[in-house]
Amino acid sequence: MANSKYEYVRHFELADNLLPGTWLVVRIDGRGFHRFSQSHNFQKPNDKRSIDLMNRCAIEVMKDIKDIIMAYGESDEYSFIIPKSSNLYSRRSSKISSTIVSLFASNFVMNWAEYFGDDKLLYAPCFDSRTVCYPNDKVLRDYLSWRQADCHINNLFNTTFWALVLKGGMTEIEAEKYLKGTLSKDKNEILFSKYDINYTKIDPIYRKGSTIIRQKTEVTTISPRNGEPVTRIKLIPTAVYDDIIGQTFWDAHPELLEEKKRNNNH
Ligand code: ATP
Ligand code: ATP
Ligand code: MG
Ligand code: MG
Ligand code: MG
Ligand code: MG
Repeated sequence: MANSKYEYVRHFELADNLLPGTWLVVRIDGRGFHRFSQSHNFQKPNDKRSIDLMNRCAIEVMKDIKDIIMAYGESDEYSFIIPKSSNLYSRRSSKISSTIVSLFASNFVMNWAEYFGDDKLLYAPCFDSRTVCYPNDKVLRDYLSWRQADCHINNLFNTTFWALVLKGGMTEIEAEKYLKGTLSKDKNEILFSKYDINYTKIDPIYRKGSTIIRQKTEVTTISPRNGEPVTRIKLIPTAVYDDIIGQTFWDAHPELLEEKKRNNNH
């Protein structure tokens, strides 16, 4: 295309390519979801519809952007992990984070009704996004452990807080005061002695958050040639609710950190 005399303004765009050979993590987070969850009558402490919709959006993002090897989600946030070797969008930071967050948000709107049924979406939801480089496997794992520990701390607090309000008849201010300065073991004890809730028995989807990995899955399609069913093994992004802080998860999925194993998988 012909150059115009205005073309020089392109040079005002600064390069934002991220350091090569580092893990890239894109974290998106809902804007004002405290209010959003109230306006849309989310069940407290955990609205399962919202978690399932968030997971669906992350799965759709991973189906579209193949470079993402795993994702971790809790509450109104999701982290997408891109390996050290990836050259996605020449590792341009804003291109990567804006594409992922916009794909996530449009899927959130597009799939809303499938999860929320007659509860209508009242206004356009919005998510922010950032990309961060992590220089080695240890810090990447520490990053993921940080998010899962955050999920645990918030969920234990929220579970206890809402038990005091919904079952114990406290006001939100009273419950907040009651829990001030309590330790994890105190909250476990309140749940157990007052409400007969064994925290460790609560569904892992709430306690551990959701991890999406590409799982080998049998997929059956109908051949367009002869109309016969054909079964193939494909890598399908799938949600699991495992502990990702300990070593067991990483031993079970060595391809996540080891590029050679990942390539053999495809
Ligand atoms: P910001 O715009 O700064 O992110 P925010 O209001 O979104 O503000 P967050 O710290 O991101 O605040 O917290 C998200 C809030 O959304 C939670 O505190 C909770 O109230 C609500 N929320 C998110 N997911 C769920 C869910 N599945 N069930 C119930 N409430 C939820
Ligand atoms: P990239 O992902 O790199 O942005 P792209 O396919 O979006 O690739 P662009 O250079 O952004 O390419 O150009 C957008 C294209 O979208 C146009 O070339 C045109 O084909 C199409 N397009 C956008 N708006 C309209 C419109 N109003 N009517 C018809 N075509 C349109
Ligand atoms: Mg926030
Ligand atoms: Mg938020
Ligand atoms: Mg949040
Ligand atoms: Mg375009």
